[in-house]
Amino acid sequence: MITRPALSILTTYIGRFAPSPTGPLHMGSLVTALASWVDARQRRGQWLLRIEDIDPPREVAGATEQIITALDAHGLHWDGEISYQSARSAHYDSVLDHLRARNELYACQCTRKHLRAVAAETGNTAYPGTCSNLGLAERNLPLRLRVARGETTFTDANAGEMRENVSAKIGDFIIRRRDFFYAYQLAVVVDDALQRITHVVRGADLMDNSPRQIVLQHMLGYPTPEYLHLPLVTNTHGDKLSKQTGANALDNDDALANLQKAWRFLGQSAVSTPSKVSEFLTAAVTLWQREKIPEIDTAMYHI
Ligand code: GLU
Repeated sequence: MITRPALSILTTYIGRFAPSPTGPLHMGSLVTALASWVDARQRRGQWLLRIEDIDPPREVAGATEQIITALDAHGLHWDGEISYQSARSAHYDSVLDHLRARNELYACQCTRKHLRAVAAETGNTAYPGTCSNLGLAERNLPLRLRVARGETTFTDANAGEMRENVSAKIGDFIIRRRDFFYAYQLAVVVDDALQRITHVVRGADLMDNSPRQIVLQHMLGYPTPEYLHLPLVTNTHGDKLSKQTGANALDNDDALANLQKAWRFLGQSAVSTPSKVSEFLTAAVTLWQREKIPEIDTAMYHI
C-alpha cells in the first residue's frame, strides 16, 4: 500500500507586515517587522508587505517610501509585490455588497453626543443598537455590522486563551465610515483572507481588535489565522511608541544595532558578534524562539 505524506508537511505559512503609512519606521514597528519576518523565515514561509493606506487623514506624505527604504536597509525583504489597500476598494465593496444582501449591515445616524449620553446612562459603551431596525438610507452614513450574540474565543500564541463577548462589549461596529473610508476591521479581514495569511504577528495594541476580526471572518466564511501579539515598545512615560508620542525614525545607517536592540527586546539569545545585517538575520532565523518573547499583560488590552 502506498502511504501518503502527512498533510502537515504540506502546510504553508504566509505571514505579513502591514504598516499604516502614518510615519517612518521606529523601534516599535521594527520589533513587529523583525518578529513577523523571522517567524515566517524560520518556518520557510512567505512574508508579505501590505501598506494599509486607507485612512488618508492620518497618513503622512513620504511615509510609505520611508518604510520601504528602512525595511530594505534592515535586510527585511518581502516576497512578491507590495500590496496597497488603497488599490483594493473593489474587494472591500464586493464584501460590503455581500453583507448588505444578507441584511448584515445597516446605516447609522447616531451622533457621538447621543452615544456618550446613552453610555453615561447605562454604564455600557457598547453600541446600543439604536439604528439597527430603522432601515435608514445609506447616503453618507457610516455602516455597522450586525454582531451575533455570544462569546468569541481564540488562542494567542503569546497570551494564551482569549475571550470576548463582542456584542455585549462593543456591539454592532462600524465597517465603513461616514466619509466612505473602509474601516480597518473590514480591510484587514478581507486582505488577510484574500492573501491567504496563515499567521498574524503584530503589536499587542491590536489584541482587542482580534475578536471583532474573528466575528467578521466567521460571517464571511473565512479561516482564522493564528495570532501572535507582541509586547509593546514604550517610551519613558510608558506610552506606546508612535508618531503621536514622538517616536524617532530609525537611522538606516545603524541597521545592525537597531536589529540587535529589537532582538533583545524580543527576549532572544544574542547573536554572537555579527559584522553585518545579513549575518545577523541568518543567525536570527536559526535562534528564534517564540517561547522567549516576554509575556504581555493581557489585562492591559481590555479584552
Ligand atoms: N496597519 C496596522 C498598524 O500599522 C496594523 C494592522 C495589523 O497588523 O493587523 O497599526
